[in-house]
Amino acid sequence: MTTTPIVPVLPDTQVLQRLDAAHFLHPFTDHKALAEKGVRVMVRGDGIYLWDSEGRKVLDAMSGLWCVNVGYGRTSITQAVARQMETLPFYNSFFNTTTIPAVELAAKLARIAPAGFRHVFYTGSGSEANDTNVRMVRRYWDLLGQPERTVIISRHNAYHGSTMAGASLGGMSGMHVQGGLPIPGIVHINQPSYAEHGVGMTPEEFGVHAASWLEERIRELGPDKVAAFIGEPIQGAGGVIIPPVTYWPEVRRICDKYDILLIADEVITGFGRLGKWFASEQFGIRPDLITFAKGVTSGYVPLGGVLVSDKVAGVIVAGGDFNHGFTYSGHPVACAAALENIRIIEEEKLLEQVAHDTAPYLKARFASLAAHPLVGTAESCGFVAGLNLVRRKAGNVHYQVKFDPGLGVGMICRAHMFDNGVIMRAVGDRMIIAPPLIMTRPQIDELIGLIRLCLDRTLEDLE
Ligand code: PLP
Repeated sequence: MTTTPIVPVLPDTQVLQRLDAAHFLHPFTDHKALAEKGVRVMVRGDGIYLWDSEGRKVLDAMSGLWCVNVGYGRTSITQAVARQMETLPFYNSFFNTTTIPAVELAAKLARIAPAGFRHVFYTGSGSEANDTNVRMVRRYWDLLGQPERTVIISRHNAYHGSTMAGASLGGMSGMHVQGGLPIPGIVHINQPSYAEHGVGMTPEEFGVHAASWLEERIRELGPDKVAAFIGEPIQGAGGVIIPPVTYWPEVRRICDKYDILLIADEVITGFGRLGKWFASEQFGIRPDLITFAKGVTSGYVPLGGVLVSDKVAGVIVAGGDFNHGFTYSGHPVACAAALENIRIIEEEKLLEQVAHDTAPYLKARFASLAAHPLVGTAESCGFVAGLNLVRRKAGNVHYQVKFDPGLGVGMICRAHMFDNGVIMRAVGDRMIIAPPLIMTRPQIDELIGLIRLCLDRTLEDLE
């Protein structure tokens, strides 16, 4: 990590804000509201901290957008990228060609992926990777002589990206109402949210019950029409929804029973976020395809892809042409960044550190926030965590009283976080984090202190 001082020359924030409002259409943004408020300009990062154009320091508890796993300011990644740019900034992997980093990364991924995964299909993002999944599973069934198997089952409130197929696989109603989504051939079942649907059950009973919704839907559709089921091991953008331990093994059993492919979207959970290379290993998912992006390069350069199991790869390879791909599939600069990022994770033993030291510590410290008068539940898994802001607490999650959504309590709390130097995300009244994997115990203490301060400020606003 660099040790250079905070931003030596501060840019003119107001000029940048004016230019931004005049020319930049941001993702997932209310542009009218943004223009009134003025955008915040981030200028530098080091470790788990960022600095904005006014010199204010912030603790980035969201790792950018769930991706900067090794933290900011890694000069060895910058150098790997620069070396590759000087040697060969681009060549494609169409037309029987490849590049050294793309091959080396494919071989490396095969070594760190769960057993039985020896192939990768590269994309530029997680959304493109999920589009690839749609194309690949349909091609798979076509080659096996079952072309009518086209339907993919996903979950309400899932997030699988923002392309037409990605947003359709996702179950975000706010996205579906814009642009006539989902596209045909994609259907949704309920998410395994114990808080939302588990009344009267233990979490373990609920996990099995939630998986039974998949079986019900397969039967309704007809098993011979269903190509695959897709899910995030833990739903990230939906609000860090951690399924009961019984859920995934039961989903796997059902997929096996009906011979349906299982896709684990590990765009958030991959590359150490839960203390292993992939969460599939932790949750007993045994998927057939794994979507990845974000943490593969720690977000330094865009890269995504699909890890393809031997079962699926065998069919695709034997089938000859697979008419799908992107200009930047296997971009050599992105692959060079990924190789160095993975080397750092290994050298610094970040998986072991998260699994055995910092994640258990974060779990205990984060759970202590449940004592705050505003907090209903506070739970974490690895390096993702979420807490619910509630009007009235109760011992059981099902009897807590929520705030009127119109009050926007989550947004009030998020604004306090921003003003007090910590980035936390609000999903309705659920506050979530996904810090860089390098975060230390003292930094966890600092984060918890800041969260508590902002919860106090939010409470004062509501009184
Ligand atoms: N899948 C999951 C689980 C994600 O969280 C995201 C992004 O947050 C995506 C897919 C889409 O990835 P991208 O934004 O790189 O297209």
